[in-house]
Amino acid sequence: APAETPQIVIDAHGLPYLDSGRPVRERVADLLSRMSQEEKAGQMTQAERGALAAPGDIGAYGLGSLLSGGGSTPTPNTPAAWAKMIDAYQLRTRTTRFQIPLIYGVDAVHGHNNLVGATIMPHNIGIGATRDPRLAQRAAAVTAAEVRATGIPWDFAPCLCVTRDERWGRSYESFGEDPALVESMETVVQGLQGRADGRDLSRPDKVLATAKHFAGDGGTAYGSSTTGTYTIDQGVTRVTRQELEAVHLAPYATAVERGVGSVMPSYSSLDIAGDGRGPVKMHARADMIDGVLKGRMGFDGFVISDWAAIDQLPGDYASDVRTSVNAGLDMIMVPYAYRDFRTTLIDEVRAGRISERRIDDAVSRVLTQKFRLGLFERPYADTRGAAEIGSAAHRAVARQAVAESQVLLKNAGGLLPLKPSQKVYVAGTNADDIGNQAGGWTVTWQGSSGAVTPGTTVLQAMRGAGGNVTYSADASAPTDGYDVGVVVVGEAPYAEGVGDVGNGHDLELSAADRAAVDRVCAAMRCAVLIVSGRPQLVGDRLGTIDALVASWLPGTEGDGVADVLYGRRPFTGQLPVTWPRSEAQLPINVGDAVYDPQFPYGWGLTTLARIPQGGERTLAALGAAARAAERAGAHRAGQTLVTRARLIVQHRAGDTMTAAVAVPFAEADHLVSTGRYGAAVARLTAAYRSA
Ligand code: BGC
Repeated sequence: APAETPQIVIDAHGLPYLDSGRPVRERVADLLSRMSQEEKAGQMTQAERGALAAPGDIGAYGLGSLLSGGGSTPTPNTPAAWAKMIDAYQLRTRTTRFQIPLIYGVDAVHGHNNLVGATIMPHNIGIGATRDPRLAQRAAAVTAAEVRATGIPWDFAPCLCVTRDERWGRSYESFGEDPALVESMETVVQGLQGRADGRDLSRPDKVLATAKHFAGDGGTAYGSSTTGTYTIDQGVTRVTRQELEAVHLAPYATAVERGVGSVMPSYSSLDIAGDGRGPVKMHARADMIDGVLKGRMGFDGFVISDWAAIDQLPGDYASDVRTSVNAGLDMIMVPYAYRDFRTTLIDEVRAGRISERRIDDAVSRVLTQKFRLGLFERPYADTRGAAEIGSAAHRAVARQAVAESQVLLKNAGGLLPLKPSQKVYVAGTNADDIGNQAGGWTVTWQGSSGAVTPGTTVLQAMRGAGGNVTYSADASAPTDGYDVGVVVVGEAPYAEGVGDVGNGHDLELSAADRAAVDRVCAAMRCAVLIVSGRPQLVGDRLGTIDALVASWLPGTEGDGVADVLYGRRPFTGQLPVTWPRSEAQLPINVGDAVYDPQFPYGWGLTTLARIPQGGERTLAALGAAARAAERAGAHRAGQTLVTRARLIVQHRAGDTMTAAVAVPFAEADHLVSTGRYGAAVARLTAAYRSA
């Protein structure tokens, strides 16, 4: 606690809400019954920390929350400075009548990405590729521990978006295109928060999670707005009711069951076929927030708006406030004009346009989580875990996640894994760049190239693995003295909008990357690693590439990439999204009637040498089921849009893909699956891993 902290004996007032022995429900009811209209409005207000006109405004306006968001003013870069900053804000609440603590929130979407030196995890798309929900949970637990140790109790993650068109610039924040895959990663909620009943939230290594962006953010349509900008981010999601339920809402139902403490609506609009309303902004959709989320799903946490999102609603500001709060928003990420928001909210309530009941519901929800987080008892940072930030143990979890996320798309002649004895020529823009490996939301909002935070680049990791490596950033003068070339290409960092601006809005590799691939692959046998937040078009170039790896955005632990490159661990990742041949195919999803991708959803070769005991039986059963499903043109009823089920086994001998039926399984060393057998194959892969 800060030095100037007044000594507070929690039970001194003798008021029931301060009695930690009472159930949270009673404490909330007691406190709420004592609060004024102004105090309630304050609890519903979240300000950007840099927007505070004076620190005293926290007490003067009874602000419920502060944040450091993507668009915020720069944040401190040591754990101690973070804790000190937040404690100083918290101290300001001590002068208020009820000393209601602030809840401070940040986006820690792949590790504590706000902090230099933290463990940076792969972005969600890589986590989806692991098909390993338990590992995802462990990674989230590391994130929670690092975040809470800097005094921050609230994380705006995970993104439960189901990406349907990878031109969407936030596709990297999606676990994948299949709602079942996204749903399986509900373990992240537990990793962040602990048990579903909220009992673990007060621990010094847990944070409140935020499922976002509710709902349909991953389904926004491509096109141009009247101003000529692409609307694929924050645009319109056009769906049938059935598609909305099966694709975009399903993961929320699971997250709510896991007790997720907050939910953030999407900037996007939803246009449900046949409802006659046209596109309506999610922040205004009472049918979805109040109706589906809180009503049908029984969500008992609170709903936080996205950054200035209510300002995008039609009408004047009073109408924005009224519409969003009446739709079910409990706290508004204002984030700048917090005084205006609070005044407007109070006026709307006084005028009877927002009911007191609605306000009481909103404030109760916010207070409930503050009580659960233990903030009333311990408002200040508990930094005992700070020594673990960026520790070897935490980085080991990230490294495992990186290794499991690597998807081997092609491996002609068994080029991978490499042998340390081979002379390797490494080239490409993303071979030696931590910033590019980490992507957006790393130290800064959009992220940036270069040595933004301590970590190991792919190149450094290959050297560390004992590789005999020569590096050329621009792939100049590759000679044939080398045994193999490794070209590491892909995207430069971005967080929101249409994606890598250097690359334009498309999925094309940059001219420099294309040239590097062509030069190296013409001179020697080559492996190409694509470090990116989404598929990049390879097209006909695939013919000249011997081995192709989707590395996603691995974060700080390049060692995980070297682990699979040098065979210290097998490749086991599977595509979380379909890999298209060309942009003309987009959007392309595994359920499409015409489905002819370069690599199907679920694709991923493994470099395991043998099938574990019992594996043959699993495979035989899968083969039979796959045959039957193919014959029936099976649909994955109700659940997803997956229509085709195939099991594909790649022979050791070559690259031919064959339906499972034709293959003697014991001879197979590469196993992939698409569609409904993804989960079964993932189980098999897990058996491989432990064998
Ligand atoms: C993003 C959210 C994020 C918020 C706060 C918005 O621009 O859409 O995902 O949580 O900023 O940084």
